[in-house]
Amino acid sequence: MGSNQRYDVAVVGAGVFGAWTAWHLARRGRRVLLLEAYGPAHTRASSGGESRIIRMGYGPDELYTHWSQRSLAQWKEFFAATQQPLFQETGVLWLAGEDTAYLLQTEETLRRCGVQIEHLDRAVLERRYPQIVFDNVGAGFLEPESGLLLARRAVAAVVADAVKQGADYRLAAVETPRGAGRLDAIEAFSGERFSAGAYVFACGPWLGKLFPEILGPRIFPSRQEVFFFGVPAGDARFAPPAMPTWLFQADEVYGMPDLESRGFKIALDHHGERVDPDTQSRMVTPAVADWVRSYVARRFPALAGAPIIETRVCQYENTSNGDFLIDRHPELENVWFAGGGSGHGFKHGPALGEYVAGQLEGSAKPEPRFSLATKQTAQKRAVY
Ligand SMILES: Cc1cc2nc3c(=O)[nH]c(=O)nc-3n(C[C@H](O)[C@H](O)[C@H](O)COP(=O)(O)OP(=O)(O)OC[C@H]3O[C@@H](n4cnc5c(N)ncnc54)[C@H](O)[C@@H]3O)c2cc1C
Repeated sequence: MGSNQRYDVAVVGAGVFGAWTAWHLARRGRRVLLLEAYGPAHTRASSGGESRIIRMGYGPDELYTHWSQRSLAQWKEFFAATQQPLFQETGVLWLAGEDTAYLLQTEETLRRCGVQIEHLDRAVLERRYPQIVFDNVGAGFLEPESGLLLARRAVAAVVADAVKQGADYRLAAVETPRGAGRLDAIEAFSGERFSAGAYVFACGPWLGKLFPEILGPRIFPSRQEVFFFGVPAGDARFAPPAMPTWLFQADEVYGMPDLESRGFKIALDHHGERVDPDTQSRMVTPAVADWVRSYVARRFPALAGAPIIETRVCQYENTSNGDFLIDRHPELENVWFAGGGSGHGFKHGPALGEYVAGQLEGSAKPEPRFSLATKQTAQKRAVY
């Protein structure tokens, strides 16, 4: 069983990272096999949500700002070429508490990087967004050209296009590769074997389960709960263009406008408990639901008492500080890890796929921040 064909690269995992890696490799004419245990951006995957924010701001950090810029251009090009409108330019509104230092630093970095932004002081915020209460907000700014990616559909589209460009896609759950030196083949639990010159494990929150000795203590899958509130009938204040996507790091909360009439989305960015992505409960916690209800009532008074019409429970796949993990396996020279999206990775799929393809070809300089050596076993979040 398996495939008699020998591929140039086998990519394991068809979340946003694996999908774009396979796409870039296929685009470069490589023979690519994409293996996935459940399906592209399935409900349990980190990429499985309806929507993900794409923003350019990362505080003073230029690395991810450059990657966001590069990725947004590629997402847009991809959606235009495949005629699928899966990016919504809602704008992204940043809000800061009384301490606006981080916000101002972010603005400065974005200006330096050529990103269009609009600074909004408290009075302007109140005039422009009367449906929001800005009680503990010091200031804000808007990234008018950023917005939302319709996540799970976008990943499915990238996989479909990779296949169109020559990649093979197979449903298979791959076992942990063992040994040292060059890996000749990987094996699925079904007994099928697949052979390639190189292997990329883009397994998101499953990386620690697959490589327990190396990554078990270095990938921290955290439980994250997401709520959709029903907006009042006939009320356009919570949908684009009146309502942008917004994030308020001081409160560790972010939200998205009522997109495609699916409800006003709100989620906690605070890391929840460590979970197993295969088995964790996908039912929201009553105490978290109560907290979110009261937050919504305080910040968006017109939504006080609004019904929760849908919920999702997902998991971030955090590294110790939030930097990605893109590096070789320490013992298997042709095996790579590509993960550690850490709750902010989705938007970067295109740039990440391009980077991995460049690493495999030896044509791109490795970024030290993505190395396995920098990944610690205690969590100390630094990238938001
Ligand atoms: C609630 C929530 C909100 C988020 N919001 C944002 C946001 O607004 N903006 C943003 O940029 N990012 C956001 N993120 C983060 C982002 O979604 C993730 O960083 C990104 O989706 C990770 O993608 P991935 O491909 O690494 O992992 P995944 O999407 O989890 O994909 C990994 C895949 O590997 C497969 N796999 C695992 N083991 C095996 C095996 N043995 N054999 C075969 N296949 C296997 C899995 O089935 C899975 O499909 C958010 C995440 C969550 C959970």
